[in-house]
Amino acid sequence: MSEMMKLQLLHVSCAHCGQDSTVSVMPDGVHGQFVLRSETSLDEAFLDAVHDPTFDEVDTLLNQSPRMLGKDNWFRAHVLQRTYGEIACDPDSTGHAFRIGKLPNCPHCGRAVLNWKAISPPQFVDREIPPATHKVWEHLSALQKEFRVDDVLERQGF
Ligand SMILES: [Zn+2]
Repeated sequence: MSEMMKLQLLHVSCAHCGQDSTVSVMPDGVHGQFVLRSETSLDEAFLDAVHDPTFDEVDTLLNQSPRMLGKDNWFRAHVLQRTYGEIACDPDSTGHAFRIGKLPNCPHCGRAVLNWKAISPPQFVDREIPPATHKVWEHLSALQKEFRVDDVLERQGF
């Protein structure tokens, strides 16, 4: 079931194709709710981190990881945001990992480099976004989950 979200509009002008367009992102000040995106598609997935148990599960495993020894809370929260999508969410339609905090790609050419312009006063739009799914993650054993967390941390350079 898709979630209806109120998102904020941003103007973008694309450095690759030169076209102007409008994209929508999670408004400032919203906590615990994220729209995940990948590097390679226009797919989006909604995450309610407060109610989705996999978010706490990954957080706990991260905090137990030897790679996080001696790291402060800010750093751990940063690592959780950077790695959660790849660790616990099924990939997008192109097989690439979703990531929290990834801004939308250009709607015209699908590439990532964009110049942003805030719209003033702010404008909002209601969007229906499918929830992030965790089919792969949910089929892993506890030990496999630990390995997966470690693999993703290593791959992302943590
Ligand atoms: Zn473009």
